[in-house]
Amino acid sequence: MNDTEVIIVGAGPVGLLLAAELRLAGVRTLVLEQLAEPSPYTKAGGLHARTLEQLAMRELTGPFLEGGVPVPAWHFGFLEQRLDLSRLDSPYPYMLAFPQHRTEAVLQDRAIELGVDIRRGVRVTGLHVSADGVRVTAQTGDTFDAGWVVGADGPGSAVRKLAGIGFPGTDADISSFVGDVRATTPPRPGYGVQNERGALIVAQLSGGLFRFAGYDPAGPDRAGSDLTLDELRETVARISGQDFGLHDPAWLSRFGNATRVAEAYRRGRVLLAGDAAHMHAPAGGVGLNLGLQDAMNLGWKLAAVAQGRADAGLLDTYHDERHPWGHDVGEHTMAQTALITATAPTGQALRRLLADAIATVPELSLRWARRLAGLDVRYGTDPLVGTRVAEISLPDGRPGHLDLPGLGPVLVRPDGYVWSKAGDTPEPRVSW
Ligand SMILES: Cc1cc2nc3c(=O)[nH]c(=O)nc-3n(C[C@H](O)[C@H](O)[C@H](O)COP(=O)(O)OP(=O)(O)OC[C@H]3O[C@@H](n4cnc5c(N)ncnc54)[C@H](O)[C@@H]3O)c2cc1C
Repeated sequence: MNDTEVIIVGAGPVGLLLAAELRLAGVRTLVLEQLAEPSPYTKAGGLHARTLEQLAMRELTGPFLEGGVPVPAWHFGFLEQRLDLSRLDSPYPYMLAFPQHRTEAVLQDRAIELGVDIRRGVRVTGLHVSADGVRVTAQTGDTFDAGWVVGADGPGSAVRKLAGIGFPGTDADISSFVGDVRATTPPRPGYGVQNERGALIVAQLSGGLFRFAGYDPAGPDRAGSDLTLDELRETVARISGQDFGLHDPAWLSRFGNATRVAEAYRRGRVLLAGDAAHMHAPAGGVGLNLGLQDAMNLGWKLAAVAQGRADAGLLDTYHDERHPWGHDVGEHTMAQTALITATAPTGQALRRLLADAIATVPELSLRWARRLAGLDVRYGTDPLVGTRVAEISLPDGRPGHLDLPGLGPVLVRPDGYVWSKAGDTPEPRVSW
């Protein structure tokens, strides 16, 4: 018998949360990560409502709520009119600004506390799959055996390529910039501009840093070169007409809008999660959130199969349920990219039209806000399957609210009866 039941390749946020989920069920889990140390840079700037709800189910929101900053209005395609997140039907009606490197630190602490074996400085280069299990080879020649392997190794996923899983979609055709810098005269909170010269959005980060990110129509010519502070200054000034006194960069980078979804999230004993399964422009700040939600869907299923409590066919439901949402995010991030890059007069007119619709049609604002927040996720054609329960309405019309932390699975009958049995978690706490 293999000592290790599941190998996860990649200790990014998705690999770490998945590892914690597997260990929660007692699965012997090994994480292989090529970086010797966690990356100090932050890509994702925050967590959306559905992700926070899922972390709450594991009583994991503490460090996020203590250290994060709730942002009650969020942008769609850099439109001037923001979406009102305060109307979301969630205990977390906002986007919580929280840097990715700190999210990874919280998830790594959690995984280690639960007993996950994380080995750093191990780059996976080979994969052999047999009827009984998988053998993973590292660049050192070391081999690791397990029953299952999950590629959580980002958009360039070695696991996906070694398993021969296609990654169809579209290539990048624009170049965007991101700089985490200090600013002598920073703009007001929530500053953003989009015009015929490009697009710029500014967010305050921790430690006195500001993120200046946007779209530069001149970008494609420079896509092969590193972004410099001088270029960032020049680009920001050209688009905004202002000099914010940018200095002391912590991170300068470029990113594109390639949009791809793996043709299969499962092939036999190989599974994909997070950016290994889907990539897209970071418009709206949803990629990390989508990946963490993959991990929550896959974790309990893979644990049940690895421990012989469920047939392997259960894992196909992971693909069936999550694959459409990878496509969905690809769709709305492409739409947002079209808005962000709409520099011609026709595109500017479309932007004004949509901004006005957001301002004057509250249902449109709410619908797009729920989409970014991941609250509209459901699986299959049955409207109830996969729908999250954050609030319940009792038969006599009284509103109900499920106190989520630690509750685990619950059964709510139409007559208001609630049943819960989740290991040693307390009795269900239901208030109305
Ligand atoms: C500029 C920018 C801004 C973004 N902003 C947001 C945002 O605001 N909100 C949001 O939700 N998302 C955002 N994203 C997207 C988000 O950063 C990603 O979706 C997220 O990092 C995906 O996590 P992951 O664990 O799937 O992959 P990754 O974070 O890429 O982690 C993969 C890990 O696998 C390791 N690895 C790779 N290959 C191997 C190998 N062969 N062997 C061993 N290890 C390997 C890597 O070193 C890495 O640690 C942004 C992205 C960018 C570029």
